[in-house]
Amino acid sequence: MNSSTVAKEVNRVIGLIEGQYDGPTVVAFGGIHGNEPSGVAALQNVIENLQEKSHLFRGHFLALRGNIAALKQSVRYIDEDMNRIWFPSIIDKIRRTPSNELKSNERRQIKSILHILDEYLPEEGTSSHPVIFADLHSFSAEGGMFAITARKEDHINLFSKLHVPLIFGIEKTLRGTAFRYYQDRGCVTFALEGGQHENKVTIKNNTAAMLAMLDEVGCINTTNLPAFEQHEAYLAEENRQLPARVELVYQHMIEPGDEFRMRAGFNNFQTVKKGEWLATDKEGKITAQCNGYLLMPLYQQQGNDGFFIAQEYQDG
Ligand SMILES: [Zn+2]
Repeated sequence: MNSSTVAKEVNRVIGLIEGQYDGPTVVAFGGIHGNEPSGVAALQNVIENLQEKSHLFRGHFLALRGNIAALKQSVRYIDEDMNRIWFPSIIDKIRRTPSNELKSNERRQIKSILHILDEYLPEEGTSSHPVIFADLHSFSAEGGMFAITARKEDHINLFSKLHVPLIFGIEKTLRGTAFRYYQDRGCVTFALEGGQHENKVTIKNNTAAMLAMLDEVGCINTTNLPAFEQHEAYLAEENRQLPARVELVYQHMIEPGDEFRMRAGFNNFQTVKKGEWLATDKEGKITAQCNGYLLMPLYQQQGNDGFFIAQEYQDG
């Protein structure tokens, strides 16, 4: 692993912790969507928390800004959604093409990230410690936080202890995500949706969940660091009324020209009934296809997912 490449990327790198002991490699993205700066702020908090304790840290932690140009303009993306183009064929093309020949801002951003991570991440199967990829997001509605992970036993065991609702099935419907790309390359993957974009609680949620995650994977040992327990207690209290595990059952896709408008007042995790009027587009009323929890109702201009419906996850 070469940290000199990392050190040169001052705009991209939020922070780097190089532990004195062997342990997991954790890479985290904040702001892959430029209108979600809370992910960057949370990772800054995490780095600040860890810096004083870096002598106790096991493994490595690298936090990166995602879409720098879009973050500057506070927009989700400039040319195309940076979290919908991580298909192996596109990524390989980005690797082969010089930056000045890449046609979109987002592809140039991805190239600069690959420049760091291709070198930084251990080759698949070569590390005896887990390699973890975490991606921090926020959403446009108010309401509770959640985490997305794979429906794999090791992932579920690891993240069930975080006191953050886990959602399964999103990884199947959202195609071309960085999360899926790194999952297919053998990483343990974890995405956080911390709360509403501008709500201060979102930064707190994402900070606490990241620190709790670093504890669970063994990078930090909170029994020696009592202050960290506060974060876990906070998550348990904050999320006590939310379901522990849900499964995605419906996704409303928006196509260009649909004129999609969510009806006002819906929150993340609000329960909805089949037939309930949720949104409108040029065809008329859009109603809930089934009972369930409403997830990420869209109250912003950019984005192709109008809302999701999830139901309590039945094991097995
Ligand atoms: Zn996002």
